[in-house]
Amino acid sequence: MPELPFLTVLSENLKRQVQGREIREVVVRGVSALKTFDPPIDRLRGARITDVRRRGKYLLFDLLPDLVLVMHLMRNGRLQLAAEPAAGRRPSGRAGRDVALALTLDDGRTLRLIEMGTKKRAAVWLFRRGEESGGPLAGLGSEPLSDAFTPAALAEMLRAGRMRLKQFLTTQRYVVGIGNAYADEILWEARLSPQAMTTTLGPAEVDRLHAAIRATLARGIDGHRQVLGDALPMKEPLHLLSVHRHGKEPCPRCGAPIAVIFYEDRETYYCPACQSGGRVYADRRRSRLLR
Ligand SMILES: [Zn+2]
Repeated sequence: MPELPFLTVLSENLKRQVQGREIREVVVRGVSALKTFDPPIDRLRGARITDVRRRGKYLLFDLLPDLVLVMHLMRNGRLQLAAEPAAGRRPSGRAGRDVALALTLDDGRTLRLIEMGTKKRAAVWLFRRGEESGGPLAGLGSEPLSDAFTPAALAEMLRAGRMRLKQFLTTQRYVVGIGNAYADEILWEARLSPQAMTTTLGPAEVDRLHAAIRATLARGIDGHRQVLGDALPMKEPLHLLSVHRHGKEPCPRCGAPIAVIFYEDRETYYCPACQSGGRVYADRRRSRLLR
């Protein structure tokens, strides 16, 4: 699933491409993706894109005169800029069926929300300006790269939410934008166990976690910028990740093999030597089947 570095660079590159453009045509193909009906999506026709922003894992398009379009790509949603208009020649084959929303711009290009796979979960909301904060953005936690996210603020959040660190980092209620991959990267960087409870961290560990959140995400953004240039990202560049999806490979810090915990449809990668005092956690997927 796209996370903060991917979505930051997507919003930056998209903004460069579409800022100032007027929407000429709106085609909704994936009806289930559209989560609001008032104002109607047709109101986008004639609207001008003034900004593209990221908040947590959401993309926000500010539009004149008075609209905000909010998108969540979920796991498989992606944005593309195509050279041709939305109507007219309908995209053929699989690619055509996977288009959820198409916005034709006044320069003839079309911004498409596409979603691969059978589970269609990408979501789009249209709000009048000022009303977007009451939608899916309500209840989101702090932006981890903002000035407000201090070690003291993190310590307060860790006290408030008693849960495992991996869950804490990915819940979006305390810190936003971090998903399964970057949570693993951050905890590896901080040398903290994904299974540790938030309430057991000492001051030095809180500081280490705070520094790791900032450094890992900032490095991720830089890495994405270098890999992608001006392009809109389609795939997470896996080589930017040190431990996530690097199971059994040597830990880049100590050389011990990276271990994996499977739980439901999520995998957690960690270094037992650096992060959990040598402890290798049970493969919870297998132990559940044997129970
Ligand atoms: Zn290690």
